[in-house]
Amino acid sequence: MSKCLICDTENFPGGWTDLNGEASCLICGTPYQIVNGTLLVGEVYPRCNIDSAWLPCLRAYWQETRKPNWQGIFLGWRSQKQRIEAEDFADWVHVHKELLPSKVGEKK
Ligand SMILES: [Zn+2]
Repeated sequence: MSKCLICDTENFPGGWTDLNGEASCLICGTPYQIVNGTLLVGEVYPRCNIDSAWLPCLRAYWQETRKPNWQGIFLGWRSQKQRIEAEDFADWVHVHKELLPSKVGEKK
C-alpha cells in the first residue's frame, strides 16, 4: 500500500468501513477504496474516497490536531471514542470555514 495522503503514513493499516471495499487509515481515519470500486482512468488502489477539494482541509486538521477524522462510511460508530473524534472533526471544520472547498454551500 502507498503513503496516506493525509497523515503521510507509509503502508498504513486499514480498517474496514461499511462501504464495500473501503478501508480507513487507522492513523488519521481517511477512507480509501481498497477493492471492489469503480476506478476512473488512471486511478489505482488504494484510491482516496475523499473529494480532492477536501484534502487540504483534512491535512490541516491532521497537522493541527493529530486526531483521526473518520470520514469513511459507517452505519454506526465502532466506539464512543470514534464518535467523539468524528464530532471533533465536524466542530473543527465549523470554526475553520476558510479551509472549506469553495463549492461547498454554493447554490447551483
Ligand atoms: Zn492516514
